[in-house]
Amino acid sequence: MTAPATAPRERTQPPVIIIGGGLAGLAAALRLAEEGLAVELFEARSVLGGRAASYRDPQTGELIDHCQHVGMACCTNFHDFAVRAGIADQFDRLDKLHFFGPDGTRYDMQAAWWLPAPLHLGPSLLAQAYLTWSERLGIARTLWRLARRPQREGASSPTIGAWLREQGQTEPAIERFWSVVLVSALGESLDRASLAAAQKVFVDGFLNHRGAYAVDVPRTSLRELFDVAVAAKLASLGVRIQRGAPVRELLGDAHGCSSIRGEDGATRDVEDLILATPWRRVGELLSPELATALPELAPLASLAASPISGVHLWFDRDLTPLTHAVLVGRFTQWVFRRERHATAAPGHAQANAHASHTHYYQAVISASRDLSAMTAPAIIAAVRADLAAIFPAAREAVLVAHKIVTEREAVFSYRPGLDTLRPRQQTHVPNLFLAGDWTCTGWPSTMESAVRSGYLAAEAVLARRGRSRQLLAPDLPRSRLAEWLL
Ligand SMILES: Cc1cc2nc3c(=O)[nH]c(=O)nc-3n(C[C@H](O)[C@H](O)[C@H](O)COP(=O)(O)OP(=O)(O)OC[C@H]3O[C@@H](n4cnc5c(N)ncnc54)[C@H](O)[C@@H]3O)c2cc1C
Repeated sequence: MTAPATAPRERTQPPVIIIGGGLAGLAAALRLAEEGLAVELFEARSVLGGRAASYRDPQTGELIDHCQHVGMACCTNFHDFAVRAGIADQFDRLDKLHFFGPDGTRYDMQAAWWLPAPLHLGPSLLAQAYLTWSERLGIARTLWRLARRPQREGASSPTIGAWLREQGQTEPAIERFWSVVLVSALGESLDRASLAAAQKVFVDGFLNHRGAYAVDVPRTSLRELFDVAVAAKLASLGVRIQRGAPVRELLGDAHGCSSIRGEDGATRDVEDLILATPWRRVGELLSPELATALPELAPLASLAASPISGVHLWFDRDLTPLTHAVLVGRFTQWVFRRERHATAAPGHAQANAHASHTHYYQAVISASRDLSAMTAPAIIAAVRADLAAIFPAAREAVLVAHKIVTEREAVFSYRPGLDTLRPRQQTHVPNLFLAGDWTCTGWPSTMESAVRSGYLAAEAVLARRGRSRQLLAPDLPRSRLAEWLL
């Protein structure tokens, strides 16, 4: 247990208990502590950050993220969280995105300075010569229809893939434009993903505001961000963080959650509790009486997961000066190049020695179900072939080390109608609140959704304690032209 470094304000009421130290739990803890409430957070593992985590690779000694995490400028609550936690300066904002067409030609996507949203990315789209002119114009027309269609959908509504085909989109247009954006943003393939979710990605990320599409890439490891820097900020606000402390059961009934039971069997009384675990863990933690009192959790049983793979590669030479690449129509979707100081660490001689003679790249493949049927050498060969196609230096480069990390339950699968099933943060049990990217936020399974859910849960706790607060950060403002057109 980490004792609070300081107790900046008088905290006379019992603490709010938060179970789960992923971004949802951390965001809720931060906002409640800022409001002067006592908070105690229980995390099952020894590190904070949940799915946004890093590990020390035994082969190279380096601290690497399980998978690269990036945000977008439209993720206003994640940005707000980063500013409040003092980590915002640890991200680079990229407003020129390097796309590589199937023949290896580079096309940069950047907002035209002379065009307002939603037209600002039009010149970049029209320059994508790996699409025919008729495909480029067809994409523009379909984007227009997508942005203006009603958002409501149910479980039997078409997927975005089916809808695009109905609109006459060709297979090359789907593979080289729509999939490139949506598979990464939603973590799901187009033949499974929700049309309304796809609409949100394009409207919020590309059409409403001219800066919304910019990508925020951490300069350091996720562990340094969330397990070290955010934890230090929380401790300075008096939050008690219990690491390696799994909660085994929540006890209570429809009138309230009365206590929690820890791994050692001891119980602990509860005043207010935020359950911020992944959705798959929620059911197993509730006592039968609490489960009966929470009918809104029943649909979680049907919530499916989608995998994401990170392929970590250490070469004997630099492949490119670019920090990232988006690969169009290939096996690999994104490649990131991380500066060495970020993966090595003082005091880790093995990591530093490895870092000094290797160059690190990470390939990311979302919705990576197909990888389970491939051998590791086949996956590495496919990624290397992609790199060789876009970076000539990769053809001669020697691969010094590699690692494939697939998270099978990386994100929830954003199927049609899912939003009608996602539970709100305030449950039917008065002192029991939910947080997690899977709760009702309207966002895909992202850090933004996790932070939003944490803020909404904190709002609900404050409301129960008689304080009405709006904690959510506003969305980026829509341009006047976008307002008028969309
Ligand atoms: C491979 C991969 C790539 C991704 N890429 C991106 C990206 O580029 N951009 C982006 O925005 N998002 C990305 N995501 C999604 C993002 O990581 C998640 O949406 C976000 O981290 C979810 O946060 P959370 O707090 O809701 O849940 P989690 O991170 O799952 O946190 C839940 C926490 O609860 C803890 N816990 C569970 N049971 C108990 C218990 N009984 N007692 C105590 N604690 C418990 C867990 O250990 C965990 O720390 C990616 C995810 C993965 C896996």
